[in-house]
Amino acid sequence: MKINITLLFFIITIFAFPMLSQGQMDRINKTIEPMEAESHLRFLTADELRGRDTGSPELLVAGRYISEQFRRYGLIPLGDNDGDFLQRVPLHTTKPASEAMVSMIGQEFEGGVNMAVVVGSDGNIEGPSIYLSDLQDFESHDLKGKVVIAVLRNAQAALGNQEQLKSLQEAGAIALIQLFGPGQRFPWHPVLNYLSQERMGVGPVSNDQGIPHLWVRDSANVLVEQLKEKAGSAVNISIKGSQKKVVDAFNIVGKVEGTDPELKKEHIVMCAHYDHVGVTKGEGQDSIYNGTRDNGIGTTGLINAAKYFGKYPPKRSIIIIALTGEEKGLLGSQYYVNDPKIPLEETVFAFNIDNSGYTDTKNLFLLDTSRTNIDELVYQAASEVGLGIIGDRIPRQNYYERSDQVSFARKGIPAVNLRMEMSVFDERITKYYHRPEDEFHTVDIEYIHKYWKAYIRSAELLGNWDQRPYWLKGDKFEAAGDKLYNKK
Ligand SMILES: [Zn+2]
Repeated sequence: MKINITLLFFIITIFAFPMLSQGQMDRINKTIEPMEAESHLRFLTADELRGRDTGSPELLVAGRYISEQFRRYGLIPLGDNDGDFLQRVPLHTTKPASEAMVSMIGQEFEGGVNMAVVVGSDGNIEGPSIYLSDLQDFESHDLKGKVVIAVLRNAQAALGNQEQLKSLQEAGAIALIQLFGPGQRFPWHPVLNYLSQERMGVGPVSNDQGIPHLWVRDSANVLVEQLKEKAGSAVNISIKGSQKKVVDAFNIVGKVEGTDPELKKEHIVMCAHYDHVGVTKGEGQDSIYNGTRDNGIGTTGLINAAKYFGKYPPKRSIIIIALTGEEKGLLGSQYYVNDPKIPLEETVFAFNIDNSGYTDTKNLFLLDTSRTNIDELVYQAASEVGLGIIGDRIPRQNYYERSDQVSFARKGIPAVNLRMEMSVFDERITKYYHRPEDEFHTVDIEYIHKYWKAYIRSAELLGNWDQRPYWLKGDKFEAAGDKLYNKK
């Protein structure tokens, strides 16, 4: 008797589970109509959208399109305004000075020649110099009204170091000049070239522009001695023609409420960036970067997910976010995690979808396996659409930290990116990656359909899972997770 019941239970178990998942796969197959899904992809990657560059009117059109699909499929709007899906991301571009000059110790240094403006808006500044052999030690000096001069040690670290500039400003300094001596990791001319380009960043254009930060070339390594000899001598700085411009940019944010009274308090983010790199100037016939693989396919994957989960919500809640500004430096995701629409501690997972291309159509690529405890769910979902899973085969490229999932991971939220198969970065990738050739008609659409369904199915398994997604022990971001969720 006992044996029979056990046996019966065993039989029910082994037959019921495949039937259940078969039923759910059927439901996904019925809900995601091929022509409808392809029409989203065709629209988003059409030439008329001109490569969806952040700051372009075409990206705003793409965002509006996505938000109206979210509405149509019944998502709850989580935008800035009632009934709206748009979250403004305050971006700006900085156009460096067209003319700049530094005069000190009887010499002139010209912007674009032997001087570069790292940060600085138009104006004239004059004050006595103070040379610091150790910039970190600035607090032990009187900087009031002075131009601080120091040797540049690490160009890369100094570039984004707004904290340091702020501290110097608070200590009374009126400018920072660093001496770009010999032995730098990067040569002068590429650095100069980089600094003379327009750059995009997060943050409003404020009236308080901070103090200017300049690099003066010191190839002969003589300026420190001269500055010491003429300690306190006057420095003149003039900057002209710099420009900061506000960029209109939006994340598109919607929500599906979970069905379980307890689990619905746990939110899973599904995200994809919908921007790409625009159009090249002055190139040949086709200069439009359609961005089908990167990331029209991911964006369409999100729209499909909106349709499916709008109809069939899982136990946990889902936040669906189309992100802006990824190609400009993960700007949309960075902004979202600092100004989330649902508190981060109530967000238990981030499931990103973003691609450079694919090398084969047999597998999907989970970036990365063995980081979180959810791998088995993605393996199951992939097998249900007839695909396998590979992990990161090119770890030295550090792909995990080069796309939006890392913005969530840095805050401690377990995060992965489900990609198309990429086992190596070879000509199968480079032929399309950030090139005008990345067009709709060049992809294997059958494979893309499987990929979209595997993404939805994985998210559904996650949404209904009886375990909570988390970092595996020892992961780089585990400590951030423990902090976010107050685990220790
Ligand atoms: Zn991308």
